[in-house]
Amino acid sequence: MGSSQSFGNILMVGDVLVHTDIITACFCCDIEKCHGRCCEEGDAGAPVTIDEIDYIESQLDDIWPSLNAQAQSVIDRQGVAYTDPEGELVTSIIGSCDCCFRGPKGCLLARRPLSCHLYPIREKKLGPLVGLNYHRWDICKDAVALGEKLKMPLYRFLREPLVRRFGEAWYRELEETAEAYLSSGY
Ligand code: SF4
Ligand code: SF4
Repeated sequence: MGSSQSFGNILMVGDVLVHTDIITACFCCDIEKCHGRCCEEGDAGAPVTIDEIDYIESQLDDIWPSLNAQAQSVIDRQGVAYTDPEGELVTSIIGSCDCCFRGPKGCLLARRPLSCHLYPIREKKLGPLVGLNYHRWDICKDAVALGEKLKMPLYRFLREPLVRRFGEAWYRELEETAEAYLSSGY
């Protein structure tokens, strides 16, 4: 993989612009405390790709009995996803924010959309490049406290979805970049 470059608070890892918050901030979800509120709060559903919509549709018969009546009615009316005001495809929601696929014990989908798996890292397309930012939200304050207690950096906590998205080789380059950045005293 190519060498990494730094531009202020942004590190270039391959073709991906990584905000340094992702390396310096600590984070570890504490579901016992937050009860997965990111699936039920906010102002839209979770971003999904066309392939992920196909996947959710393929799972629908299996999860249908577990969906609550409101979720079934929304999905009957508009399908499993819709286009939000910013033009992004997102999962269908009940009311203003509660994801239709949230069950009493968490997500009903066997494979969560990548945007959910990667959260609180948010991905943004920047022309031919991709940018990654840490989206800070006060409902995750217990994850920040637990991450600090465990000294768990966000990029390590999210190793699995980062590998899912960018591959093992890219993640190794991210680790090397992070170690060099932290040892520089930035
Ligand atoms: S798809 Fe699943 S993980 Fe994503 S917001 Fe909905 S319930 Fe949560
Ligand atoms: S991202 Fe935030 S709200 Fe969602 S499970 Fe983690 S700590 Fe809880």
